[in-house]
Amino acid sequence: MAGEGGRSRDRGRRGPKKSGPPVTRNAAVKVRSARRRKPSSTEWLSRQLNDPYVAQARRLGYRSRAAFKLIELDGRFRLLLPGRRVVDLGCAPGGWTQVAVERVGARGTVVGVDLMESAPIAGATILRADVHDAGVAAAIKAELGGSADVVLSDMAPSTTGHAATDHLRIVALAEAAFAVASEILKPGGTFVGKVFQGGAEGPLLAQLKRAFAELRHAKPPASRAQSAETYVVAKGFRRGGQASQ
Ligand code: SAM
Repeated sequence: MAGEGGRSRDRGRRGPKKSGPPVTRNAAVKVRSARRRKPSSTEWLSRQLNDPYVAQARRLGYRSRAAFKLIELDGRFRLLLPGRRVVDLGCAPGGWTQVAVERVGARGTVVGVDLMESAPIAGATILRADVHDAGVAAAIKAELGGSADVVLSDMAPSTTGHAATDHLRIVALAEAAFAVASEILKPGGTFVGKVFQGGAEGPLLAQLKRAFAELRHAKPPASRAQSAETYVVAKGFRRGGQASQ
């Protein structure tokens, strides 16, 4: 993992000011195709320009529209209570970390982890690391100063375009997130993980059912309807609920 060099901490001003709810829809922006732009890029641009969550994220100072997924999950499941120790796996560019910092408050602790470099976020510690790294759980615990109350994972691998391969990679990443969570969560703790429906996630869900007292599935409104992405919210981590290797 990227040790000392990959760590950033910023304990100045904490996060964006308000995490108001989305979202009003403005008149649609039409994007014309351009000669040097691939159709898929034109489609992406059009979606971004017409996405009310993107506009609202920009207005409120969140680094990603994904911030609203966590806001909606927190509204429903009450995950980020003041004073909690929260770990955000796959944190870049930082939208979830910003939301976590503002909700746990000055008494809470937030540690984000990502392969990619993130700009510092006031009130959070960010580790540049791969969740598969052997020392990652110990490094997170050292930053937290103990076990975590909540482990979040919004991790997603880069895609190959081959649906079956991508699905397996996504599930493997969700399993890696749970493996880290099972090393660092305190008994009674909560795990929130992004999973994608597609067939191979069954064994992971079975493991989560054994390891937690309560397992719920959620598709927050900010998650695009056409995406197979969904989240599991697992509460009540059982002591000894380790992930099987
Ligand atoms: N929740 C973030 C936000 O609100 O800004 C967005 C997360 S983005 C969808 C997924 C992230 O997972 C990417 O930044 C990617 O680098 C990270 N990721 C993918 N594989 C990873 C791994 N093995 N270890 C750590 N991070 C990983």
